[in-house]
Amino acid sequence: MPKNEMTARFSALSQNEALARVIVGAFASQMNPTLSEVADINTAVSEAVTNAIIHAFRGKEGFVELNCAIDGDTLSVTVRDDGRGISDIAQARTPFYTTCPGDDRSGMGFTVMETFMTTLDVESSPNAGTTIRMTKRIGAETDGEAKA
Ligand code: ATP
Ligand code: MG
Repeated sequence: MPKNEMTARFSALSQNEALARVIVGAFASQMNPTLSEVADINTAVSEAVTNAIIHAFRGKEGFVELNCAIDGDTLSVTVRDDGRGISDIAQARTPFYTTCPGDDRSGMGFTVMETFMTTLDVESSPNAGTTIRMTKRIGAETDGEAKA
């Protein structure tokens, strides 16, 4: 089967976070994911897009690019911004690390993405933006279960 891919670009505004989830959910539905897999994908997409909206532009105007691809049994989701970037990626990925502790942030976004997806890759440099690439293998949970 050929790879299937789509890209959406939207303003970095909090009202577009739900849009991003719906887009990824609708695109992934052709893989017949379980409800639990859909919930995992929604949660991870929400964290990545929220980070781009909140941290990358800090209230300034900007855009988020969302790319989804299906290759065999693997869904990839890439969330890219050209905002302020991250100077120390390892530190940013550490559980409970946040640069906005006063804003009700718990510093758990990257940890959540890592937990709910199969792989998580973060590329970022200061002032050049951030690219989050996540993959999830669909069907991994039901492997080994008796099929009807
Ligand atoms: P939470 O996600 O729990 O609300 P948080 O967003 O601070 O809190 P993470 O999502 O783990 O926690 O991100 C950790 C830190 O990495 C952020 O506080 C921020 O400094 C930085 N960061 C994350 N994503 C981006 C981004 N797209 N652009 C710039 N900085 C980012
Ligand atoms: Mg976050």
